[in-house]
Amino acid sequence: MSNIRWALIGASTIADEWMVNAIRSQPDGVIETIVSGSAERAREFAQKHGIPSFSTDLAAVLADPAIDAVYISSTNEKHLTQVLAAANAHKHVLCEKPLALAPDDAGQMIEACAAQRVVLGTNHHLRCAASHRKIRELVTGGALGTPLYARVFHAVSLPPHLRGWRVESPDAGGGVILDISVHDVDTLRFILDDEPVEASAMTSSGTLGGAGLADGVMGIIRFRKGVLAQIHDAFTVPYASTGLEVHGTTGSLFARDVMTQRAVGEVSLRTASGTETFDIAHGDLYVTSVAEFHRAINDGQAPAATGADGYRSLVTALALTKSAETGEHVRVASQFGR
Ligand code: NDP
Repeated sequence: MSNIRWALIGASTIADEWMVNAIRSQPDGVIETIVSGSAERAREFAQKHGIPSFSTDLAAVLADPAIDAVYISSTNEKHLTQVLAAANAHKHVLCEKPLALAPDDAGQMIEACAAQRVVLGTNHHLRCAASHRKIRELVTGGALGTPLYARVFHAVSLPPHLRGWRVESPDAGGGVILDISVHDVDTLRFILDDEPVEASAMTSSGTLGGAGLADGVMGIIRFRKGVLAQIHDAFTVPYASTGLEVHGTTGSLFARDVMTQRAVGEVSLRTASGTETFDIAHGDLYVTSVAEFHRAINDGQAPAATGADGYRSLVTALALTKSAETGEHVRVASQFGR
């Protein structure tokens, strides 16, 4: 087995806090270099993490045959050009969510990676949680009967060190919907094994959102097989816990503390037989995401979340945004879906 040699694109918080460790936790994962718009940030990041080189020259890094894959965690408006450049240089691409700011851009990214025969993954970490995998198994295995309703509780407090572009910059794809609701959508698609067809939402701007950006949203998403899902996401709620519920004809599933980056949470099922709580073999979500990306490169399997998954979460998030702007229910486009 040869190593998979990574370049990090973006001296970001997510790379610093989770993804450096996730890549290095793979037996064949090596980080060769970090690319940033600032030489100073790149140098500091490389020094902190013991990465052997750093650069501000993306083209030069992509031209290097010693790089097999890139992890892109720049601000959202940069994902498109960086993914296209990486694909054209024949590098496998794990890109952060939202994949892009517009559906056509995400479509271009998918097509470019397919044309160059490189893997494109979207780093939707929640579907890598053991809790959500258990929930999917229960829901799709019929443990609740026919699923009718789902609810996602994902109102949190945005940590102070992340209160930059997320709450200030529409151009960078800020706002709660592109930050948090995209994850809800991906998680719901994953656990229900179904596709959103219609979305409706209202947003609020409480204490953090500037420049017209929402810092809270409540929305309803209709899925193709009939489930109605409710989402509540916010940057401004310090003391709520996160969770997810699915209610079916013969059972209700309750998952607490599961909309999180951490490997925690409980899952229980209430039916006519009583309440059963499941043992969950928790493991680092990002380590799983990278492990499955490596398998996609080595064995040709799909990564945990594909480019098409990133497309689907994006178009649904944009439908929620449009609904909040117009007051209408909005159809979700079906390209790149099932
Ligand atoms: P950060 O704000 O930490 O980093 C984003 C970019 O901002 C960096 O690439 C860097 O640019 C620039 N930057 C970082 N620090 C500074 C600074 N002090 N001054 C000026 N610019 C700076 O973003 P996040 O890590 O929070 O998010 C990055 C991406 O990851 C986004 O797409 C986000 O949506 C996604 N994300 C995904 C998560 C998940 O669980 N899947 C969780 C969190 C974020 P440069 O590259 O030029 O150095």
